[in-house]
Amino acid sequence: MNAFELLRKALLYIAATGVGIAGIGITTTPLAAQGQNQDEEVQMGQEVFNELKAKAEIIESSPLYDQLRPIADAITRSAQPRYNHPFKFYLVHEPQPNAFATPGGNVYVVDSLLYFVKNADELAGTLCHEVSHTIHHDTMTLLEKRQKIAEREVGADILLGPSAAHVLAIALLGALHSLSYDRDVESRADLTGSDVCAAAGYNPWGLVWLFQDFNNANTDQVPQLLSDHPDNQNRIDALEQHFRKNPSVFKKFNPDPKSATPLVVPDKAPEVFLR
Ligand SMILES: [Zn+2]
Repeated sequence: MNAFELLRKALLYIAATGVGIAGIGITTTPLAAQGQNQDEEVQMGQEVFNELKAKAEIIESSPLYDQLRPIADAITRSAQPRYNHPFKFYLVHEPQPNAFATPGGNVYVVDSLLYFVKNADELAGTLCHEVSHTIHHDTMTLLEKRQKIAEREVGADILLGPSAAHVLAIALLGALHSLSYDRDVESRADLTGSDVCAAAGYNPWGLVWLFQDFNNANTDQVPQLLSDHPDNQNRIDALEQHFRKNPSVFKKFNPDPKSATPLVVPDKAPEVFLR
C-alpha cells in the first residue's frame, strides 16, 4: 500500500468515527461551506474536551467557580450573539496560569490564573481575548496553515501510529498551548476582546493593566499567557488607540487600576475533577 492509499484509508477511518480533523495534519479537502466548518469546530472542541478529561485536568466542581461564573456569564451574554455555538467555561488544573479557547465554544481557565490576576477586570480581559479567537475562527485558520506544512513534512508518518484520531487530538492540544498566532491576530483578539468586555460591563482597561504588569515583571516570572510575543507595548498602544477612536463605548471606563473590580479568591480552594 503506498502512502496515498494509506492517507485515503485514514481519512475514511476518521470520517467513519466522526473525529473532527479539519485542518490537522492529514485531510486533503479544503474546508467547504461555513456550515460544515462550524460542525467541524464543534467536533474539534469535543476532541480536546475528551483529551483534557482523559488527563483528569477538568475541574468538575470547586468554590473557584463562584468567582469565575459571574464573569463567564457576563462575557457569554456579551459575546454569544457573535458566535453560533454556546460558550462554556471550564476550570482546568495545569502548571502555568493560562486560558485557552477551542473551536466550538469551550473556554478553559487554568485555576492558578484566578490567583495570578490582580482583579476581576484583568481576568475578564484575558477571557474576552480568548473568546475573541473563537469568534474570529483563529484556531481553524492556524490549523489550516499547519495542515499545509504537515502535508509536506509529515506525510504518511502520522498515519502509522496506533490511533490517528488520538494523534490528531494531541496535535490540536499542542497547537492551542503553543499559541503561535501572528501578532496581528493577537492584536485583533485584544480589540474585539475589549469590545466584548465593555459590553459585559467589565473594564476593558483590564487587558492594558495585565500587559503593564507583564512589562514591569521580571521576564522569567511572566507566564506564556495571551501570547508568546513579548510586544506588550504595541498591544497596549493598539488598545489605547481603539479606546480613543470609540469614545461612546470606552470613555466611561476608568484607566486607573485602582478603580478595578476586586476579585477575592479563596485560598487553597478544593477541586473535584471530572472523570
Ligand atoms: Zn491570543
